[in-house]
Amino acid sequence: MNYIDPATGVTYSTNTARWCSDTGGYLNLTHGTGLKRGDIKASCYSVWRYAKAIGVDDKHAVAMGEGWTPLIDGEWRGASVRFKLEFMMPTGSFKDRGMTVMVSYLKSRGIDHVLEDSSGNAGASLSAYAAAAGMRCRILVPETASYPKIAQIAACGADVVTIRGTRQDVADAALRMSREIFYASHNWQPFFAEGTKTLAYELWEQLGFKAPDNVVVPLGYGSNVAGCEIGFNELVRNGEIKKMPRIFGVQAANCAPYFNAWQAGVEHLVPTEITPTIAEGIASSKPTRVAEALRAVRNSGGSMVAVSEDEIVAALGVLARKGFYVEPTSAAAAAGLTQLLASGAIKPKESTVLVLTGTGLKASEKIGELLKLKARDLSA
Ligand SMILES: *Cc1c(COP(=O)(O)O)cnc(C)c1O
Repeated sequence: MNYIDPATGVTYSTNTARWCSDTGGYLNLTHGTGLKRGDIKASCYSVWRYAKAIGVDDKHAVAMGEGWTPLIDGEWRGASVRFKLEFMMPTGSFKDRGMTVMVSYLKSRGIDHVLEDSSGNAGASLSAYAAAAGMRCRILVPETASYPKIAQIAACGADVVTIRGTRQDVADAALRMSREIFYASHNWQPFFAEGTKTLAYELWEQLGFKAPDNVVVPLGYGSNVAGCEIGFNELVRNGEIKKMPRIFGVQAANCAPYFNAWQAGVEHLVPTEITPTIAEGIASSKPTRVAEALRAVRNSGGSMVAVSEDEIVAALGVLARKGFYVEPTSAAAAAGLTQLLASGAIKPKESTVLVLTGTGLKASEKIGELLKLKARDLSA
C-alpha cells in the first residue's frame, strides 16, 4: 500500500509517516488486497480479526479490544432495523475503530508525539491509544466541547488546549502547530479510514457473510462513509459480496455542507450557512475528502439527508426508551432514518443497519436538559 494524492496522482511510500502531500493535499491509500472469509482470525475479537485486510502489520497493533461490537435486531418507526452498537468501544465511540490502526501505524513508523484537533471523541480516543502506545499527545478542543470529553482526554495524560471559536478555528490552530508536532489528524491520516473500514467487514460477517441493503451513518467529516465504501468494495472485489449496500449519510441541518453539495448536484462545497448544533460530533463545516464522500454515497445508490435539532432530540428520546443511551450526534442518524422511511427511500422490509456511534454517558448533562428529565422526589 502507498499513499496517493488524489489531486495530482503522486504516490508516496508509507514507510515514512506523513499527513499531507508535498503540495499540501490530503492523501488516500492505494487499494489493498482485502480478505476472504477464510482469512479471518476467528480467535481475535477486535478490529484485528481482519488483520489480513489492514495495511499495518498486526505485530505492531496497539489494541484494547476495540471493534467486534454487538449488532442488535430491533425496530424503528415500524421497520425492522439492526442497531450497530459502535458506542461500545474502549473510549465510548466508534473512533477507536480507526484510532487503533492509525496509532499502530504511526508507532511502527517511529512517531512518538502526536497532535490532533477534535470536538471530543477523536481526542479522547487518540489520547487513550497514545497512552497505550507510550506516545506523547497534544489535543486541541473547542472551548464548547463537552466537559466529560475534555476530562477524559486530560485523564489519559494528553496535553489539552482549548481554543476559542468555531470547530474550524480549532482545526486551523492545529494546522499552525503541525510544524512542531506530527499532525495525527484522523480527518487527514488515511490509516484512520483503514481502521473504520472494518465496520464493513464486521457487518458482513455478523449478517452471515452478507451485505445489508442499507447502512445509515451520521456524517461529519465522513470516516464511517469512507469505511463502508472501502471495506464493502474490497469484499466486492474479492467476490465475497455481489454489490455494495446503499450508504446514507445524515447531517445536522444546522451544519450540512455535504447535504448542500448533494442537493446542488456537485462534488465540491457550496456556500453554506453554519449554525450551532447539539450534534457536536458532526458539526464539521469544512470536511476534508469532499468529493470522495459524495461519490461513495452516490455510487452506492444511497443519499444524504439533513435533520433538524428537534428531530434529533425526538430520536434521542426514542432511542433512550429502547435502552440505547447515545449522544445527540448518534441520534441524528436515527432521525435521518425516520426521514428515509417516511420518504420511501428505505423500505421497512429491507435489511437496514443503523450505526450508533457514541455513548450518551459523556453527554448526560446535555441529554438531561434536552429531554427535560427530572427525578420525582418521594421523600416528603
Ligand atoms: C466523530 C463522530 C461522528 C462523525 O464521524 P465523521 O468521521 O466525522 O463523519 C459521528 N458520531 C460520533 C459519536 C462521533 O464522535
